[in-house]
Amino acid sequence: MREEHCIFCRIANGEIPSSTIYEDEDFRVFLDLNPATRGHALLVPKEHYGNLFELEDGLCEKAIVLAKRIAGRMKKALGCDGMNLVQNNGEAAGQTVFHFHLHLIPRYQGDTAGITWTPGKASEKELEELVALLSEE
Ligand code: 5GP
Ligand code: ZN
Repeated sequence: MREEHCIFCRIANGEIPSSTIYEDEDFRVFLDLNPATRGHALLVPKEHYGNLFELEDGLCEKAIVLAKRIAGRMKKALGCDGMNLVQNNGEAAGQTVFHFHLHLIPRYQGDTAGITWTPGKASEKELEELVALLSEE
């Protein structure tokens, strides 16, 4: 299903032009208009899924295999020193376009992408509580 007012539905299906670096029947990979670094690309499904939790498992599997392939190609072609795969779900997590997308962000030594966080400190008790809460029965 496509959503008429979703910008990534329109880009993914070729209604709006994009700087596409890969396309198949399920996905389009195109360059971000506001790149964190040189070569920053977005991998999106052609069907509309709002986020990771909505994305069907089969596409999820295909997406990560495809990301690995494109990231490898980027590494070779751009000569980057590293690669971040970033995937935001929900406003609190920084998602601004509500159509599932995976960021492929080539990293260069000393670049200014700043994909980082302030490390906290987990107590033993906290870790135990979380393991109890999050482990499968
Ligand atoms: P989010 O913050 O939702 O994880 O990422 C959305 C990304 O989409 C941002 O990096 C933003 O620059 C990019 N973006 C938003 N609108 C467009 C567009 O119309 N074309 C392209 N190529 N990228 C877009
Ligand atoms: Zn969409």
